[in-house]
Amino acid sequence: MKVSPVALAFTVLASRNASPIRAFSNAASVLLQSSTTSSSAAAADGRKGRLVAACPSTAAAAATARAMSSTAVSTPTSSAASPPANPLLECTGLPKFSVIEPSQLTPAVTAILEKLEADFAALEAKMGEGGEEVMGYEDVLPVVEKMQHPLGARRADFIRRRACIPGYAWGIASHLNGVKNGDELRAAYEENQPKIVQANMKFSQSKPLYNALLRVQRGWEAADGGEAKADDDDFATAQRRRAVENSIRSMKLGGVGFEEGSPEQARYKEIKMRQAELSTAFSNNVLDATKAFGLDVTSPADVEGVPESAAAMWAQAYQQHLIKECKDDEDKKKALEEAKVDAAAGPWRITLDGPSYIAAMQHLPNRALRREVYLGYMTRASEFTVEKLEKMDEEKKKDVDEKERKDKPGKNNVPIIKEILKNKKELSGLLGFANYAEMSLASKMAPDVASVAKLSNLILEKALPAAEKELSAATALAREVGGDEYSESNLEKLMPWDTSFWIERLKEKTFDLKEEDLRPYFALDAVLKGMFKLIERIFDIEVREANGKAEVWHPDVQFFELYDKQSGEHVASFFLDPYSRPADKRGGAWMADCLGKSDALGIDVPVAYLTCNGSPPVGDKPSLMTFREVETLFHETGHGLQHMLTRATVGDVAGINGVEWDAVELPSQFMENWCYDKPTVYGFAKHYETGEALPDEMFEKLLQQKTFGAGMMACRQLLFGMLDMELHSKFDPDGDETIFDVHRKMADIYTPYSKPVDEDRFLCGFSHIFAGGYSAGYYSYKWAEVMSADAFGAFEEVGLDNEDAVREVGRKFRDTVLSLGGGVAPMDVFKRFRGREPSPEALLRHNGLA
Ligand SMILES: [Zn+2]
Repeated sequence: MKVSPVALAFTVLASRNASPIRAFSNAASVLLQSSTTSSSAAAADGRKGRLVAACPSTAAAAATARAMSSTAVSTPTSSAASPPANPLLECTGLPKFSVIEPSQLTPAVTAILEKLEADFAALEAKMGEGGEEVMGYEDVLPVVEKMQHPLGARRADFIRRRACIPGYAWGIASHLNGVKNGDELRAAYEENQPKIVQANMKFSQSKPLYNALLRVQRGWEAADGGEAKADDDDFATAQRRRAVENSIRSMKLGGVGFEEGSPEQARYKEIKMRQAELSTAFSNNVLDATKAFGLDVTSPADVEGVPESAAAMWAQAYQQHLIKECKDDEDKKKALEEAKVDAAAGPWRITLDGPSYIAAMQHLPNRALRREVYLGYMTRASEFTVEKLEKMDEEKKKDVDEKERKDKPGKNNVPIIKEILKNKKELSGLLGFANYAEMSLASKMAPDVASVAKLSNLILEKALPAAEKELSAATALAREVGGDEYSESNLEKLMPWDTSFWIERLKEKTFDLKEEDLRPYFALDAVLKGMFKLIERIFDIEVREANGKAEVWHPDVQFFELYDKQSGEHVASFFLDPYSRPADKRGGAWMADCLGKSDALGIDVPVAYLTCNGSPPVGDKPSLMTFREVETLFHETGHGLQHMLTRATVGDVAGINGVEWDAVELPSQFMENWCYDKPTVYGFAKHYETGEALPDEMFEKLLQQKTFGAGMMACRQLLFGMLDMELHSKFDPDGDETIFDVHRKMADIYTPYSKPVDEDRFLCGFSHIFAGGYSAGYYSYKWAEVMSADAFGAFEEVGLDNEDAVREVGRKFRDTVLSLGGGVAPMDVFKRFRGREPSPEALLRHNGLA
């Protein structure tokens, strides 16, 4: 389909550029991983700190990243009498987290790969070298799906799908690597990763398989008389067609076209292997640099005015740090563990973990300390942090040097990025694309780089004036009440470490509503219950707590089951890992599949992992969420619902599988809109101690705040998106221009009011595009926002207080967007729900521009 909804959207936007966009629907559009959250510009807005959002895509990204990097926690084989069977080899039911050990990964992968190779070789032989043996659909994809399931890395690599990596051993390892990262798991993961990449490549480059798929496709076309049925009502057929079509495209992109034994084929393989290694190194470096930083604060004056929850979090971090330092001194450790943490008296330790970093940027009153934290964050995994690490531990460094092979990626991400970009450019060239961006867009809704740029610039036109206005208001406030250090003579303009802080003060002044004041109304348990009520109301699905019915990897993890209200059937389940755990859990939030629906595998009840990094309970208080964390929970749940409520039964297109990257944020961003729907919010916003409902006045302010600071946020997102595009299209990794030059150049266009400081190494922590799946795809967030806003618009049109009508539209959303998943092209799915192509009207309206 040539016309993309967004292309259409652009047209409409263009024709209505009369009023400047003051704000974009905030949250929805911006999904940041915590790690990328704060560019200088970014720091400016309240939401900037979206700790999260790594969604599926992110999720995916996370998964991919993880997939590329890690594994579980291993333990040396114990000398117990009879070792239990390897739980990673049991491919049915839920993972047995209680007995899974990192040491089991290698034996599991080895055994699985051996069988997989033999089975696949037999299948290839059956298909005939040129795929000339006529086989039907049933003899091809479902067979491959079954074969790959035990591994669980089902073609993830060549489909470059956001992670997913459904299935077993490797899927579990990838998951644990994200939520229970440890040295042993990491080592096991790294050891096995190349084998997985290689195995995937065998599939993606199998000529017999490719030819067999082409024959299946041609057979269908012949039966249709050459007419492809785009609006096929027969979903069973449609999803098979999509799966085959996607696979063929992915295989093309995976290099199946190379002649066997050709230098191109060899080079392609070489690059793929190296890229996996580089992404893993990139992501581990970011994690290590994040962990290595800690700023101890001892003077209460330095945390004056900081919200209690942040102070408590920092005090707890200080204590945890001391405990860690104890190493083997058990008595000391015990004493510390028992000591009461005093949030008001300190000391405190500020870390670069998402919630901590964001709180520091928004609330830390001491400007010099804020700068230190900011630069700590912005220089992660760069030459600056590497230097520091080296100074800190000369000995260790020597050790590492000896161990590291000459070509092993180091701790500094600058050379890694350069090599990644170079490789991607070469890779796309091998496949006949002019650059990597072209290759990336070949499997997305957006037709080309120009249309992405066009949308970005259209939005910029409206967002930039708004951003400039926001910054000048923040500056004025700083000058007025900030004292001498913010006077015009001392400070020409606010620095990146100032903007978030002053935007936050401006917001408080404007709305007299502190985030802290809201938190007591958003206790996790209550929010969950309220969200489940909404799901029941609009989708006719009941969510039941099912703790104890599944093994978990951490005591904080909860388990839930979904039941269809009409049939009473158990249709899906999910794990929720809600809190931040800086020591071993990656930052951000994401959804990933544990089990995906599939006829071939006989899996009827899909299971999802929802991972957030929210505020943990502190002391005897429950987890009190920030509003942003509430939105994030809704967001990830949106992804989860698409995975769980899918009707697609072909694994490749069930749930979020097979959904175009730039369409995958539709259900997630859609769900966020409900956080501003009064009946929904009042379903859960009750004070955790008194049970008192959120005061009306506060809710009104929340609504008004929705677009506060949105100009800067939109500009920052546009910067990230176009920086990503530029690096993957025009940038020459061998040229004189550095990646940081490109960052500055793009910042001149998209955030001219806030340029990167000299030390800014934001790109060294931009995991989305260097370790996740977002390369030349970061723009997707905005792209999908047009659709998600428009989808919510359908509910607004019938009236959000018209219960019957809302139910009806809700069912329709479930029956289309949530049910069809990747089984139908995204434009068609949208049209089936909305009765027309997407329009940006709703987005504009949500931003006060209609
Ligand atoms: Zn998402």
